Amino acid sequence: MTTRSAVPVPATHLDAARDADPATRSANAAMAATLPFGDTRDFEAARRGLIAPVPDGIVQARSGTAVWNLGEYAFIDGELAPATVNPSLWRMARLNLANGLFKVAERVYQLRGFDISNMTVLEGDSGLILIDPLMTAEVAQAALALYYAHRPSKPVVAVIYTHSHIDHYGGVRGVIDDADVKAGKVAVIAPAGFMEAIAGENVLAGLPMMRRAQFQFGSLLPRGPRGQVDAGLGKGVSRGTTGLIAPTQTIDQPIEEHVIDGLRIIFQLAPETEAPAEMHMFYPELRVLNMAENACPLLHNFIPLRGSVARDPRIWSKYISDAIELYASGTDVLIGQHHWPTWGRDAIVDYLQAQRDLYKHIHDQTLRYMNKGWRPAEIAEVIDLPPGLAERWSVRGYYGTVSHNVKAVYQRYLSWYDGNPCNLHPLPPAPAARKFVDYMGGASAVIERARADFAKGEFRWVAQVMKEVVYAEPDNKPARELCADALEQMGYQAESATWRNAFLYGAQELRHGVVQMPARTMMAADTLAGLSTDIFFDALAIRLDAAKAAAQVFMINWHFTDRAEKLVLTLSHSTLTHRVGASAAAAATVTTTRATLDSIMLQKMEVPEALSSGALRIEGDASRLEALFGMFDPPSSMMFDILTPGEGRF
Ligand SMILES: [Zn+2]
Repeated sequence: MTTRSAVPVPATHLDAARDADPATRSANAAMAATLPFGDTRDFEAARRGLIAPVPDGIVQARSGTAVWNLGEYAFIDGELAPATVNPSLWRMARLNLANGLFKVAERVYQLRGFDISNMTVLEGDSGLILIDPLMTAEVAQAALALYYAHRPSKPVVAVIYTHSHIDHYGGVRGVIDDADVKAGKVAVIAPAGFMEAIAGENVLAGLPMMRRAQFQFGSLLPRGPRGQVDAGLGKGVSRGTTGLIAPTQTIDQPIEEHVIDGLRIIFQLAPETEAPAEMHMFYPELRVLNMAENACPLLHNFIPLRGSVARDPRIWSKYISDAIELYASGTDVLIGQHHWPTWGRDAIVDYLQAQRDLYKHIHDQTLRYMNKGWRPAEIAEVIDLPPGLAERWSVRGYYGTVSHNVKAVYQRYLSWYDGNPCNLHPLPPAPAARKFVDYMGGASAVIERARADFAKGEFRWVAQVMKEVVYAEPDNKPARELCADALEQMGYQAESATWRNAFLYGAQELRHGVVQMPARTMMAADTLAGLSTDIFFDALAIRLDAAKAAAQVFMINWHFTDRAEKLVLTLSHSTLTHRVGASAAAAATVTTTRATLDSIMLQKMEVPEALSSGALRIEGDASRLEALFGMFDPPSSMMFDILTPGEGRF
């Protein structure tokens, strides 16, 4: 497990933020005029069935630090958005404040507003089936405690993970423990490919993803009308302890029906949608359909700003369509693992049809323009939500945006390359920026003209051109400030919470620099233990310092006695590869356990210590293992530069 440390945000960061410019005020007012603010049904739905709110709005860790504090959002208290917040986003920011224990239907409860995601409780015949135990143990435990304060104290008999994202499994150790799982008292159920998806999405590129997630969620921004107001899917992510208990049972067939503690659950797999491994559930006796995270009341991401493999909106739409066909006629309540439910069959069908068309529309129209030869940024400029969808709150871009989703569709089919050979081998950003700025008459001349454009409200262009000056001259304070000012106005205008967070956090880093954090080991112990040795060796291979490995060629056999696994690791051409088996030509054979190797990876144990204790034995040339471990990069800080070129690059 790993603890996500809370970094205090200096209050001075808020003072540095500017007010909304006239252009921002008029853009936000113009948008407000086009949207149906008279339709307040979502506010009723978000409150419906409330039994009790999150006690004091706070969840504390044992140490006393708040891992979750809704009190930070007390400023969100009226219908009228401040000039520094997009009015549509303000509405979502208010809705996402609904919190507590809610009764959804007979035997179905939800805990909302304890984290970015929801925990759903199904009451079985003898115990509880918990769906998605939030992101950290502290909030999951507090959520379950609130449930127990108002409902009978039945034991947890099963945990179901709807998909492979950490806000849907990371808090599992707050609600069940390993011993009960091993003793068979608690089943842990997940969609096929769940563990592989976690490894694939979050392990190999986990570090830059965490860094980029800071921009997506605005976790290091102060809360406030000039700071973070929401994260689209919820208020933000909790700051407690994450963990993982591997599933004991996976759902492998496209549709599978099980009776769990007396309740019929029909699982519908929906792979390669919002997550690589995801599933919907229908509870026929309860007349409740759970769409996991595939039909939230917003436009989701085809690639989130944190980065991911491009998702497939065509398949996503198809699985929504299948769910309507299969389950809608027997559904009275639609729930998801974020946000509030929808009640009533007609409303549910209407809602799901809009979601179905939303994803397909962006996919199809992007391809339509791609087939005419349009480039990503051009397509993003011309496609918007069509009439009929645009006026619906439930499809607006609070999390994803049409703009960056269009680019994700392009990337999925045609890659990062727009086909123009002038873009095939350009100079890297900093040398190119130095040339641009030089050709444009120097930094001062560019800044002067950009200031005039700022006054005209051309913030997109000002940020774009100031990026060049900042990359040419990273210490140029006026350039950094003007860039920050432009990003900030873009943040104030953004309907998407993730865009707002990215723009405002970018401005904050330009003004105050990058918060320094200690280097960290590559992943949580739970995640590491859950990795197949195949992925484990790949995670090791991506840390190989190619220069240190130059001209070295050898093989090492590995025998992991706790998993009865034998693999051979080959170093050649500054590259590590591995395969199942053993080689007679290997320089050495290492006999150990994966648990020991995990400890070494987490820097809880050194190789000599493992050798002397007998936890690791080497036959053959022991110096090879030592040499190999000397070739890996040490754990690095994720706080690399983004807004500026960065030390030691170019
Ligand atoms: Zn989620």
